[in-house]
Amino acid sequence: MIIVMQPGAGEEHVRRVIERLEANGYGYHLSRGVERTLIGAIGSQEHKERVAEQIERLPMVERVVPILRPYKLVSREHELVPLVVKIGDAVFGREKLGIIAGPCSVESEEQIIEAARAVKAAGAHCLRGGAFKPRTSPYSFQGLGPEGLELLLAARQATGLPIVTEVMDPRQIELMVDKKVDALQIGTRNMHNFDLLKEVGACGLPVVLKRGWAATVQEWLRAAEYVATAGNLDIILCERGIRTFETETRFTLDLAGLAAAKLETHLPIIVDPSHATGTHKLVPQMSLAAIAAGADGLMIEVHPHPDRALSDGPQSLTPKRFSALMDEVRKLAAVMNKEL
Ligand code: PEP
Ligand code: MN
Repeated sequence: MIIVMQPGAGEEHVRRVIERLEANGYGYHLSRGVERTLIGAIGSQEHKERVAEQIERLPMVERVVPILRPYKLVSREHELVPLVVKIGDAVFGREKLGIIAGPCSVESEEQIIEAARAVKAAGAHCLRGGAFKPRTSPYSFQGLGPEGLELLLAARQATGLPIVTEVMDPRQIELMVDKKVDALQIGTRNMHNFDLLKEVGACGLPVVLKRGWAATVQEWLRAAEYVATAGNLDIILCERGIRTFETETRFTLDLAGLAAAKLETHLPIIVDPSHATGTHKLVPQMSLAAIAAGADGLMIEVHPHPDRALSDGPQSLTPKRFSALMDEVRKLAAVMNKEL
């Protein structure tokens, strides 16, 4: 960090800053300009946010400018080469686009197996489906729970597709690990659930970490850092729309946020246009826009009969529409020098 002193700061003020730095194990470099004195903190990275906050309160300190990111393991500063993350055989990152598709919720054996066969035939690499559902209303369908997980396993058995499913509570992790789920999804509502992030990070399974709908890119990356510091860098970030004043779409798909996050992190980032837009009518356009903006893949809701879906029917594609979209994604991928 660099400490910028106010014009007119005296020796005594500079000394107090230096004392505080030294007390926290930092060295310093002093630079006296005509108008201002700058103090560069050197060395220790310990507690840098807290130290910065303390120094900012000292007299005649104008501001403290951080120069290192508040996250390390997920940062491009730490690792320049983009990371590749695998879910089963599916590959996300660098030249590979990974496609995760399937219904919002697992509803029945027939539904999930039909969905799995359809998305596989269209070229998806992973099957999604919620067994434990984070619904905004307690009166909405809450998912089939452990039974839904069994049905997902049956769909994996039937198609060979790796499965991705949401975990809402640390108490569900053991079951997911036992059943050898291929990747755990952390939903938008749980992005700030730090105990969940830590436990998921420690369980060893790849993680799809959705962006909180009111989280900044920086907060999203710090959430990823929680998973990473617990021992797991197999993290795929997922932009799924943020809340803005716009009501025409369910959320606002933040493609600039995606591009900005890609400059900051070496983790792969996919886009979920289904929850972002809330309507099947906009999913194809936003899928293509996401790939053009540099996404490493997509997560798309597909239901064999969206009109009968127990959750998120309005935004679900039919298998036929999904298959047509996959043809377009393949063409665009070729232009972008990417492979599916
Ligand atoms: C989902 O993927 O079905 C879901 C609930 O997503 P989100 O957490 O992005 O709302
Ligand atoms: Mn959904």
